[in-house]
Amino acid sequence: MNCNFFEKKSVWHGETEILANFPTAEKTYRLRFRAPELVSLMQPGQFVMLRLSDTNDPLLGRPLAAYQADADAGTIDVVYLAVGKMTERLSRLSAGTPLQVWGPLGNGFRLPHADHLIMIAGGIGQTPFYTLAEESLGLRTFSRKNVAARKVSLLLGAKNKNRLACLDDFRQLGVNVQIATDDGSEGVRGVATGLIASTIRESNLPEVVLACCGPRPMLLAAFDVAKSLGNIPCYVSLESPMACGLGVCFSCVVKYRDENGVADDVRTCTEGPVFDAYRLAW
Ligand SMILES: Cc1cc2nc3c(=O)[nH]c(=O)nc-3n(C[C@H](O)[C@H](O)[C@H](O)COP(=O)(O)OP(=O)(O)OC[C@H]3O[C@@H](n4cnc5c(N)ncnc54)[C@H](O)[C@@H]3O)c2cc1C
Repeated sequence: MNCNFFEKKSVWHGETEILANFPTAEKTYRLRFRAPELVSLMQPGQFVMLRLSDTNDPLLGRPLAAYQADADAGTIDVVYLAVGKMTERLSRLSAGTPLQVWGPLGNGFRLPHADHLIMIAGGIGQTPFYTLAEESLGLRTFSRKNVAARKVSLLLGAKNKNRLACLDDFRQLGVNVQIATDDGSEGVRGVATGLIASTIRESNLPEVVLACCGPRPMLLAAFDVAKSLGNIPCYVSLESPMACGLGVCFSCVVKYRDENGVADDVRTCTEGPVFDAYRLAW
């Protein structure tokens, strides 16, 4: 089924099956499924909802960023941290298991021009950034005008080195990858937001844009740095829990200011998940 939901947006909903599902880091898994219609529609930063086909527990689907999209094979990869009911169950499923999928969802990244795009990720927050890096480095287009940057950096923060996932993928694209771990087992000891100022200084490129994804305290810290360095443009991709992903249930609303500074509820799933940090009513 391929149905038009909102204005110009197209969402594919269907049943597919798991092609591969394997660990990539501690409690972290990479799952591949085939959905050519979805691949042809998706843009960087969008997400999919996954639901297990053969059970009503959990009843609702769960949102995961579309990490990689292979246009030739018509496949999507998601990378997920096993944190609860759905993701724990998902981690035990093997190839051939049916899966319900709908997407692509959300608006993804619509960033202003950047000479240097700095992506800041905490936990499993690197997942919406791979396709953004592909596009920003001019390696790929996603049915829209390409916005190439001269440099793309990924500042990735994790608990320890065992939790680091997807690094080689980013390095192979040509992304400047910097790591911070809580225990100093890889990269610098500390948090990824502590690397922003030095990364900007070292590249010495005029127009910098920050794109952030991770736990709320990390997003707030990144936003504080953006403000302290002269109000650098800063965009955050929120991981608000949500039930439908389609704008119907309003379970994922956040307060967002309009052009006049008036805050109102917006849905992370349809108006987001990427928001201008300066307009979010934190
Ligand atoms: C747009 C979007 C993209 C996302 N992309 C990814 C991704 O690429 N990879 C990935 O691993 N995760 C991603 N997430 C988060 C992922 O959706 C949740 O981890 C997942 O829904 C948890 O489901 P569960 O049934 O396993 O856990 P549950 O049983 O529902 O919950 C387990 C625990 O996690 C907490 N929890 C649940 N959801 C969240 C959340 N969103 N943020 C913080 N705490 C939460 C609960 O309060 C509970 O303590 C994304 C979320 C959004 C909104």
